[in-house]
Amino acid sequence: MNEQINALPVNGPVFRPEDGGYDEERTGYQLLAPHRAAVIVGATSAEDVRAAVAYAAGHGLRVAVQASGHGLAGPLDGGVLITTGRMSGVRVDAAARTAWIEAGASWEQVIAATAPHGLAPLAGSAPGVGAVSYTLGGGVGLLARRYGFAADHVRRVEIVTADGRLRQVTADSDPDLFWALRGGGGNFGAVTGVEIGLFPVEDVYAGVLAFDVERVPDVLDGWRRWTRTVPEETTSGVAMLVYPDLPMVPEPLRGRHVAQLQIFHVGTPEDGARLAEPLRALGPLTHDSLRPRPLAEAGEAFEEPDRPHAYRSDNRLVSDLSPAALAGLAKAAGPAAPVMCVVGLRHLGGALARAPRIPNAVGHRDAAYSVSVLSPVEPGEERTVRDLHREALAPFEDASLGRSLNFAFGPLDEDQVRSGYEPAAYRRLTEIRARYDGDVTFHANHAIPPR
Ligand SMILES: Cc1cc2nc3c(=O)[nH]c(=O)nc-3n(C[C@H](O)[C@H](O)[C@H](O)COP(=O)(O)OP(=O)(O)OC[C@H]3O[C@@H](n4cnc5c(N)ncnc54)[C@H](O)[C@@H]3O)c2cc1C
Repeated sequence: MNEQINALPVNGPVFRPEDGGYDEERTGYQLLAPHRAAVIVGATSAEDVRAAVAYAAGHGLRVAVQASGHGLAGPLDGGVLITTGRMSGVRVDAAARTAWIEAGASWEQVIAATAPHGLAPLAGSAPGVGAVSYTLGGGVGLLARRYGFAADHVRRVEIVTADGRLRQVTADSDPDLFWALRGGGGNFGAVTGVEIGLFPVEDVYAGVLAFDVERVPDVLDGWRRWTRTVPEETTSGVAMLVYPDLPMVPEPLRGRHVAQLQIFHVGTPEDGARLAEPLRALGPLTHDSLRPRPLAEAGEAFEEPDRPHAYRSDNRLVSDLSPAALAGLAKAAGPAAPVMCVVGLRHLGGALARAPRIPNAVGHRDAAYSVSVLSPVEPGEERTVRDLHREALAPFEDASLGRSLNFAFGPLDEDQVRSGYEPAAYRRLTEIRARYDGDVTFHANHAIPPR
C-alpha cells in the first residue's frame, strides 16, 4: 500500500503514522480520541479532495474529513483522513452579498474577509470553529435570532461524493442532496466549498456581563425573564462555570461560581445600553465588556476559550425553561459537581423558528432555548462525566424536543442522532444517504445510516 500512497496524485502533503508531522496533522481543537487514519491527505484544493476520495473508494477505505477538529466525536480507525486546513480561501462578492468559502476556513477568516465590506456571515460565537462544518450542521450564530440558521442561507455546495465525483449542488441541480447537506452534517461526502449569503450590519453592541452566582442566585432566571422582552436583533446566551482553584486562574475568579451573560445586539449604542439595563440591574457585576464593537471583533464578543483540550458535551433543545429546572441545573453543575461542568444556555426563536425559503434538514426550529453541558475530560473520567451530564439535563426532559447535533461533542448512538431531527426529515436523510453513500464511505461525526 505504501507505494500506492506515494503515488497518490495530490499536491498537498501525505502522512502515514510513522511519518513526522502525522500527529500534528491529525490534532485539532478536540484532543480526546483523535483519528487513527492509515493515511492523511493534507488537501490543498478540490482536486486533492477528489483524488483522496477516489483513492479511498478504489481501495475500499473509509474517509473522514477534518477542518479545525472542534466537532470530532469519535475516531476513524484506518482509512483516509482528509484535512482541509490548507483550503482556507474566502472570496467575497460584495455586490451580490455572498461569499465563497473553502472547506477549511474558520469563522475568524470569513469575518476578516467580509467585515471590510460592512457585511456579516452567520458566524458562531467561537472564531476558530470551521465555517463549513458548522453550516452543514445547521449553525446557530451571533445573528441567529435575526437571520436564522447559517444553513438557511447557503446558495451552493461543492462536494466530492463517494463515487469520486466533484459536484456543484444547488436547489435546482440536486434538490434532495441540497436539502440534506443543509443540516445533515458530513454524511453525504467531502464538501470542498460553500457559497453563503451575507448581511449588512452597521452597529453592534456586544459582550459579556458576569455575575457571582453565590451573590446573585437568580441571575439565570433574570436572564430568562429578560429574553422574553427582547427583539430579534438580540441574540444571547449564558455560560456558567465554577473556575478551578488553580494558580493559572486570575485570583478574583479562583473557585468562584460565575454566570457570564453573552449578548450580541444589532443596533445603536443607545439602543444596546437601554436593552442591557435590566441585566446590569440584576446585581453586582464581576466583569462588564458589553459595549459598541466593530463587526471585525464579533468573534471576541462571547469571550469563548480557544485552547485545545479534551471534552465531552450533551444538550437539549427545549420549548421552555422553567425556573425550577434552571435552579436544578445551577446546583447539579455547581461547586459540588464531581468534575468541572460548563453550562451553556442559548436563546433561540425569532428567525430560527421560521422555515427558510428553500427547505432544509435542520431540526427543531420551534425550540425556544438550548441547554448544554460540557466538561473537560481527564483519562478515566468519561463515565463520571456522562453520568453528571445525564443528571444535569434530567430536569429538562419534559420540555425537550431533541438535541442539537452541532453541540453534541462525543459519540452518539442512532437514537441520539435521530433526536436531532423531525421523524420525517430523519427518514428522508437515511434515504438520501443510501443514494449517495450507501456503503458508508464517509465517517461523519454523527452518522446517519443508509436505509
Ligand atoms: C468552542 C466551540 C464553540 C462552538 N460554537 C458554535 C456556535 O456558536 N454555533 C454552532 O452552531 N456550533 C458551534 N459549535 C459546534 C461546531 O459548529 C461543530 O462542532 C462543527 O462541526 C465544528 O466544525 P469544525 O470544522 O470546527 O470541526 P471538525 O471537527 O473539523 O469537523 C466536524 C465534523 O464535520 C464534518 N466535516 C468537517 N469538514 C467537512 C467537510 N469539508 N465536508 C464534509 N464534512 C465535514 C466531519 O464529520 C467532522 O467530523 C462550537 C463548537 C466548539 C467546540
